[in-house]
Amino acid sequence: MQQPVEDPAQHCDVVVVGGGPAGLAAAWAATDQGARVVVLETASETGGNITGAFVHTICGLYAPAETGSHAFVNPGLPARFATALQAVGAAGEAETVGKVRVVPTDPGRIRRVIEQWCAARPGLRVRLGVRIHEASLALADVRTNTLLGRDATGSFRITSDIVVDTTGDAALAQQAGASVEGHPDSERQLPSYIARLAGVPAADTAGYGRLRWTAALARAARKGALDPRAESALLRPVPGSKDAFLTLNLSRSLVLETARERLAEEAGRTVDAVVAHLRANREGYSDCQVVASPRHEGRREGTRMRGRSRVNAEDVLAGTRSEDEVALSSWPIELWQDHRRATFRHIGAPCGIPLGALVSASHPRLGTAGRCLSASHEALGALRVIGTALATGEAVGIASALAADRGIALAEVVPADVRLRRDATISG
Ligand SMILES: Cc1cc2nc3c(=O)[nH]c(=O)nc-3n(C[C@H](O)[C@H](O)[C@H](O)COP(=O)(O)OP(=O)(O)OC[C@H]3O[C@@H](n4cnc5c(N)ncnc54)[C@H](O)[C@@H]3O)c2cc1C
Repeated sequence: MQQPVEDPAQHCDVVVVGGGPAGLAAAWAATDQGARVVVLETASETGGNITGAFVHTICGLYAPAETGSHAFVNPGLPARFATALQAVGAAGEAETVGKVRVVPTDPGRIRRVIEQWCAARPGLRVRLGVRIHEASLALADVRTNTLLGRDATGSFRITSDIVVDTTGDAALAQQAGASVEGHPDSERQLPSYIARLAGVPAADTAGYGRLRWTAALARAARKGALDPRAESALLRPVPGSKDAFLTLNLSRSLVLETARERLAEEAGRTVDAVVAHLRANREGYSDCQVVASPRHEGRREGTRMRGRSRVNAEDVLAGTRSEDEVALSSWPIELWQDHRRATFRHIGAPCGIPLGALVSASHPRLGTAGRCLSASHEALGALRVIGTALATGEAVGIASALAADRGIALAEVVPADVRLRRDATISG
């Protein structure tokens, strides 16, 4: 592998653009295979929807509850990460909720684990606050990807054998003219806004208390006693803390009428109204307050990369498996088209995600993972969850390191080799 050259002209094996759960998993897995990796993240910290939007449950780690299996469905990096979170109290014990099994987390404490996992890998460099202003991606006759960008330290130029777009929105692919697909805002899954509250009575964050709380808020919103935008809200406890997360599900009309950069601010105003309403009207809320606000609303669906293969709803529902699979998806198809309720289509068994769904159809040295992998709108309702983002990130990270090591394109990597390398990390 080529050694990195210092700024202004750097070369590394793998550049990962977007440091959410998928990008981090890709970067950690590629580094563990011996690759020199740089993560370029536009925000002031990594963690994506976890640290930026306070998404506080890891889904997609286990097979459907009715199978009775409590084993991790992807026993590599997703299992190691969830176990590491539990070991330091950043995650609670797994819980069965109806037909699924989930791990509740505290995003604030996950942040520290992410920092430790990055610091433990000398082959990994993370650059924050990055804006990429030019991207030229490798094609058949050009073997190197070149990105021009800027961060707090100034302008930089970086080249790599492989680039992985885990921006959640295929932002790099779009910028570089690679094949993408997506839906307009009028059809995408709706976002939610999550804030952390203190001073919430424990009875409202457990069992039927949660349902009664949601119903009381919806009644107040319908009657005009509260901002009508608060008609769909949920409360969940923060593991290991007395705080609670309030999730406000944002309506289609709010999303369409509000500029994207102002959506979180508008939603934050509604959360303030909810807190004021609770303090004035509900017993036990006299000390209730917002103790942490997210950087942005939680974004479920963006533009996706067009891959060499694509996962469709039928694959998820039938539990399709293939020779080319490198990760498994085990979450039901959960779609938020209406802010008042999600629809769920449950599955009997996990489905395989082929390596081709993580490799660009147009650019052979461009990979992807997480919520901008190659999938239909419906299939993404299952594949976008954090457990699966970690698994697809791990797979494309291993594939990228293999490609860089062998001097081949990502499109030439054999899926069985990725599985072998991943299984070696599990048994070793
Ligand atoms: C409201 C909500 C609730 C959810 N609930 C759950 C749940 O309970 N359990 C679960 O498992 N999943 C849940 N999810 C899904 C899950 O949070 C995401 O799908 C998951 O975060 C996907 O990870 P990702 O890395 O693909 O994308 P993201 O987490 O979105 O990370 C993308 C990263 O790329 C960065 N980026 C974007 N553009 C650029 C650019 N041009 N250059 C550099 N960096 C860029 C972003 O800043 C971000 O850090 C929820 C999602 C939402 C929105």
